[in-house]
Amino acid sequence: MTPSAMRSYFVPIMIETLGEAWTHGVRLTMRCAWGKQLGLKSIRECIYTKELDMETLICTHGAAFPISMLASRLKCPRCDSRRVIIIYSFQRNDLSSKAVGW
Ligand SMILES: [Zn+2]
Repeated sequence: MTPSAMRSYFVPIMIETLGEAWTHGVRLTMRCAWGKQLGLKSIRECIYTKELDMETLICTHGAAFPISMLASRLKCPRCDSRRVIIIYSFQRNDLSSKAVGW
């Protein structure tokens, strides 16, 4: 198989904005990234995780809002940390549909 033949089997999907993620059925989950350390003392790790509602995100930020900027706009409701990471998952893969919450 030549490299050009291989390329036809692989169609990359570029997802940069909330609108594109919604169109492609991407789910976004926020996870608190606050670790176990606060300075020198060890604190209880925050494991808050929440799937974000795409429609609400688009209503509040707009479809053209870049996903890369989303983490900087979020805050953990449990520990108040602004250290939040975004996890991407695809709807057709139902492995990610396990219930997470408080
Ligand atoms: Zn937290």
